[in-house]
Amino acid sequence: MEERGSPDGDLARSLEQGPEGPETPIQVVLRVRPMSAAELRRGEQSALHCSGTRTLQVSPPGGGPDVAFRFGAVLDAARTQEDVFRACGVRRLGELALRGFSCTVFTFGQTGSGKTYTLTGPPPQGEGVSVPPNLAGIMQRTFAWLLDRVQHLGAPVTLRASYLEIYNEQVRDLLSVGSPRPLPVRWSKTRGFYVEQLRVVEFESLGALMELLQMGLSRRRSSAHTLNQASSRSHALLTLYISRQTSPSSPDSPAPQMPPGAPGEPPVGGKLCFVDLAGSEKVAATGSRGELMLEANSINRSLLALGHCISLLLDPQRKQSHIPFRDSKLTKLLADSLGGRGVTLMVACVSPSAQCLPETLSTLRYASRAQRVTTRPQAPKSPKQPQRLEIEILQLQEENRCLRSQLGQIDPKASRLSGARVAWAQRNLYGMLQEFMLENERLRKENSQLQSSRDRARDEQRILAQQVQELERCLLCACSDHQPYPGPAPCLCVMVPAPPCHALPPLCSCHRLCPLCRAPLAHWACAQGEHHLPQVFGPKAPGGMPLAAQPPPWAPPCNPGSAKCPRERSPSDWTQTRVLAEMLTEEEVVPSAPPLPMGPPNTSPVLRGGAAVPNLAQRLEALRDQIGSSLRRGRSQPPPSEATRSPSRVLPPC
Ligand code: ADP
Ligand code: MG
Repeated sequence: MEERGSPDGDLARSLEQGPEGPETPIQVVLRVRPMSAAELRRGEQSALHCSGTRTLQVSPPGGGPDVAFRFGAVLDAARTQEDVFRACGVRRLGELALRGFSCTVFTFGQTGSGKTYTLTGPPPQGEGVSVPPNLAGIMQRTFAWLLDRVQHLGAPVTLRASYLEIYNEQVRDLLSVGSPRPLPVRWSKTRGFYVEQLRVVEFESLGALMELLQMGLSRRRSSAHTLNQASSRSHALLTLYISRQTSPSSPDSPAPQMPPGAPGEPPVGGKLCFVDLAGSEKVAATGSRGELMLEANSINRSLLALGHCISLLLDPQRKQSHIPFRDSKLTKLLADSLGGRGVTLMVACVSPSAQCLPETLSTLRYASRAQRVTTRPQAPKSPKQPQRLEIEILQLQEENRCLRSQLGQIDPKASRLSGARVAWAQRNLYGMLQEFMLENERLRKENSQLQSSRDRARDEQRILAQQVQELERCLLCACSDHQPYPGPAPCLCVMVPAPPCHALPPLCSCHRLCPLCRAPLAHWACAQGEHHLPQVFGPKAPGGMPLAAQPPPWAPPCNPGSAKCPRERSPSDWTQTRVLAEMLTEEEVVPSAPPLPMGPPNTSPVLRGGAAVPNLAQRLEALRDQIGSSLRRGRSQPPPSEATRSPSRVLPPC
């Protein structure tokens, strides 16, 4: 039965749909080249007839039943290069490559069947020699389409290319800077087989890519033999690497941005690979000798390995087991395209001549088998993204879908309800956020108030300590003034009731002698005893005097004319005033929380500040009282009224 339709009909549509399920068969397009002038000259007959767009009828010479082969598309000799490009659906492969898939187009067939012509146009081609546009092959047309597509993407895309050949089972870099040398094929868990140290060239324009193609074609091994004047003697693989910066959420581009590959390894991302296989040949038919025969044997061996892998891939039971991709460099580099995660298109090329029928039948059978091979197209993953996580994400997504559908079945209003819940949660979260922000703001203010309160308390403490020192200085002056009085003058400390020890420790009766008159003070027994002054008897200074007994720096200089130099006093005199000052200055000021409200600027420092400041103030006040009383008694002055007890007025001039 003939099938009607355009060559780029069903197949193109099926390819345009892309990989539909987890398993996608290799797409196969059959191209029948026209009879060559030489074949026509020899009077050879065509054994092939295309019926419709998908079926090829093979009529064996000498009679016998026709054999039909069915492919995705069958393109007869009348089809142009543009027809072939369209029918093959290579643009769809390009789109998939842009989304991170690994796509392969490879030509297969007997030598001289038109593989190279289909991919790159007619020979000769080389550096500086370009193919006429109408004869340009699938590769040039795809390049033009891809560069145009990338320009209109609106997202940055990095394009790179590599070009290699497998010649006599050796991988050679067709874009190498120097003369090509054999490169090793390696395997890694993340990217499978790859060629190490292969030159990968970044390009931005169609012209630059065409130059790379021409450079590779000119360096590729080819020879003339009976069946083909420009027979490729190697398998050639041109690969385009497409790295696209995309948002993972973009529906158009689910593949994440791939990181650049390690040095010496090909880049990771979408790939579009064009494989021009060397043709199988019967050495007897091609007349190959010497080097040509060696090449032919090598080509045939690798094609045999390829056929073997395809056969094993077809067997559903054996597919799970070992596939001998390692048997040849070709099968290693095509492993992903054949049985892995790639999307693959095979263009099988045949000669119509009845003379070539055995090879043509072999190719047709080979291609028929290949189109039953399936792959599992999959965008390459970032090596950093663990597969376990991906699986988990997929499971969660699936669960989410199920739950949503169940929810929808149970209650049609559920979706509206869930929307309301989401809105409620969002509102509440927003409210909580606002509350936290306000609380943070309040805490920040409180903290700064506490800090300023602490600073003020410290200032006040410093002022009080200075005043104490000043008072002590005055006290010493007063003591000096009283020295000329002969005999045991009535001691001030006896006459002034001593304040409690905790209020005025330096003047308490813990000390055996009065600091002013040197009189014994044992009768002023203090319950707290020596606890107030443990540091008085410290280490000795170099001069032999205990450090605590040395006059402090602020002590008045010794008056040589004076009968009683302060130096001659007991060390405890200095000690006591020194300790007083130390205790006042070392008083720890702990700011209270919350901070006290700010008082008016003229408020006495005693009213503000930390909790310990009132203690200091009391002590200061007591000290002032004591000094004042002492001075008054010494000079017979009346006591000051309460109103005059401001810090500035109470200090007597020294
Ligand atoms: P292969 O690569 O399969 O060995 P080639 O592509 O080199 O074969 O083609 C062999 C010869 O046949 C070349 O001279 C080429 O120009 C010619 N040829 C192949 N296919 C066609 C075609 N469709 N139309 C015209 N000439 C073709
Ligand atoms: Mg060729």
